[in-house]
This record gives sequence, structure tokens and C-alpha cells, in this order.
Amino acid sequence: MAVERTISIIKPDAVAKNVIGEIYSRFEKAGLRIVAARMIQLSREQAEGFYAVHKERPFFNDLVSFMISGPVMVQVLEGEDAVAKNRELMGATNPKDAAPGTIRADFADSIDENAVHGSDGADTAAQEIAFFFKPEELCQRTR
Ligand code: UDP
Repeated sequence: MAVERTISIIKPDAVAKNVIGEIYSRFEKAGLRIVAARMIQLSREQAEGFYAVHKERPFFNDLVSFMISGPVMVQVLEGEDAVAKNRELMGATNPKDAAPGTIRADFADSIDENAVHGSDGADTAAQEIAFFFKPEELCQRTR
């Protein structure tokens, strides 16, 4: 299996619940390493740009408003099969459908406020990493 990198975002609802550490702990227990991280208050323009793929969807405006309702914690996760592993840890988009023990099952309240974002493929991961971080901001975790 290849070592990959992926973007994880802890969304404003989960930051407000003060569970950043609990979520980080799940990444670490699954063998994912954080190689970059930053807390950001997104602007409306940034949130619209990040979710541009959804701009025709009926939930777009509410999603953007939610994503700027408070700071988000953005991190690059690295590890074997990181994209799929992070998606597995997150659980289904709707927390009602999320498997027990997943982040969304444990911390999300609704499909709109669902605690975390994770890149859904290798190409998306590369684009999303470049959206938030310069290449030199990604650290080597080889020690
Ligand atoms: N979303 C929403 N209502 C919906 C579907 C999605 O508010 O009916 C939001 C939700 O925050 C979700 C995001 O839009 O996480 C992106 O949707 P996607 O289908 O890509 O789900 P994800 O990849 O986040 O599981």
C-alpha cells in the first residue's frame, strides 16, 4: 500500500465542542501522522472556493455559512492508504448512517453539521492540500 497524504478539516461544530484532541487521537491510533496543521477562520470567499464543486447544490449557501460560523482546524494526514483510512474514521456523510465508533457517529449532530471533512480521492487530496498549504509547510515525519 502506498503512503499518501490527505486533507482533514475539523469543522466549526466540532471545534466548538472542544474535541480536536479526541479526533487527533483517532488519527494517531489509526497510524496517520499530522504533517501540517493550522486553525483558520475561513472567509466566505475561501469557503465558497473550497466547496466550489457543490455550488449548484441546494445546500451550498447553508454549507458555506456553517463553514464560516467559527474557526476550523485543517490538517494534512500522512500514512498508508491515508485517503481511505481517513474516510473510514470519519464515517458516512449523514451521522445517522455513520458506523458506530466513527467520528461522525460520535461527534456530529446532522448531515449539515457533520464534524469533519476528508478528501475523497488522491486527486482531490492534492488540490485540497495546495488550497491550504505551501509545499514547504508540509513537514517530514521520518524520525
Ligand atoms: N451536505 C449538506 N447537506 C447535504 C449533503 C451534504 O449540508 O444534503 C454538506 C455536508 O457538510 C457534507 C458536505 O456538504 O460534509 C459535502 O458533501 P459530500 O457529499 O461531499 O460529503 P462528504 O464527502 O463530506 O462526506
